[in-house]
Amino acid sequence: MPAVIRNDWSREEVLALFDLPFPELLFRAATVHRERFDPAEVQVSTLLSVKTGGCPEDCAYCPQAARYHTGVEATKLMDTGSVLERARAAKAAGASRFCMGAAWRSPKDRDIPKVAEMIREVKALGLETCATLGMLKGDQAKALRDAGLDYYNHNLDTAPEFYGDIIKTREYQDRLDTLEHVRDAGMKTCCGGIVGMGESRDQRAGLLQALANLPAHPDSVPINRLVQVEGTPLAGTALLDPFEFVRTIAVARLMMPASMVRLSAGRAEMSEELQAMCFLAGANSIFYGEKLLTTGNPDVAADQALFERLGLRPMPVAHESKTVHADIVEPAAGCAA
Ligand code: SF4
Repeated sequence: MPAVIRNDWSREEVLALFDLPFPELLFRAATVHRERFDPAEVQVSTLLSVKTGGCPEDCAYCPQAARYHTGVEATKLMDTGSVLERARAAKAAGASRFCMGAAWRSPKDRDIPKVAEMIREVKALGLETCATLGMLKGDQAKALRDAGLDYYNHNLDTAPEFYGDIIKTREYQDRLDTLEHVRDAGMKTCCGGIVGMGESRDQRAGLLQALANLPAHPDSVPINRLVQVEGTPLAGTALLDPFEFVRTIAVARLMMPASMVRLSAGRAEMSEELQAMCFLAGANSIFYGEKLLTTGNPDVAADQALFERLGLRPMPVAHESKTVHADIVEPAAGCAA
C-alpha cells in the first residue's frame, strides 16, 4: 500500500521526521518515492521570464523587486512569437513543461488576453503549460484555464510565522486565496517555498506543514534554496547546511508522496553530488535551461551529462500525468524567482 495522503500534519510530527538519523530519513523517503514514481525519471520544466523586473512587491529575496538595486532591468511583456521561439527550443532540449513567469504583483485584466494567447500557442506545441504571474482573481484563473493553462505557480515561500520577516506587501492569506482560485478553476497547483533565508528548522518544518495541510497537496512542490543576490536584503544570510537542504527535500517527499518535488532555484550553486543526494531523497523534477527568472541555472549540456552519469532520464508528459494522479486519495480537489 502506498503511503497515505494526509492533510493533518502537526508540527511535532514534521519535526520528528527532520530529526531522524540522516540515513534512515533518506531510506524512508526513497522508499515512498518508489511507491508512486520511477526513481530513474525526472520531470523537466523550462522557465522563461516573459516580463522581468520592476515589481512593486518587497520579497526580501527577490532581485526583481523595483525597490532593491540589483541591476535587473525592467522589461515589458514579451511578444508571443519570441516566447514561442524559446518554447520550441525548450522542447527540443527535452523539456515537457514550459513555465512563463511575469514579475507582477498581480496581472491587470488587460494583460490576461495577451498571456492567454501565449498559453494557447505554447500548448499547441505539445508542451504542458505553467504560469507564475502573481496574485490571481477567480475570473482571471478561469480565463487562463480556458486558454489551456495546466499549472499555476504561487509559492507560500516560508512558514506563516516567518513570513512577515520576508514579505510585507501582501499577506499569507492572499497567497492561500490565489491557490484556492487556481484549484477552483480546475488547474493544478505548483506551490513550494524557499529555504536558507535565515529561518529555523522549526520554520522549515512550518513551511512543509503549511504546504501539506492545504486542502489538496500541490501537484508540484518547488523547494528553492535561496540564491543570494547583492542588493537584496537577504544577501549575506548564513548559508544553509547542504545536509539540511537534503533533509528538507526528503521530508517534503514523505509528507507529499504523490507530488512532484522540484529541485528549483539554487541548483547552480549545488555540487553534482548534492543534486544526486536530492534525487535519492525523492526530488523528481528540475528546472532545465540556462536561466531561471533572473538567476543562473546549470546549462542544458551539464544537466544532460549529469543525467547520463546518474542513469536518469526525462519523464515523458503522459507518464508524468498518469503517475502523479495514481492512487491519490486526498479530497477532490508565489513567484518562482
Ligand atoms: S518574488 Fe514575485 S512578487 Fe515578489 S518581488 Fe519578486 S517578482 Fe515581485
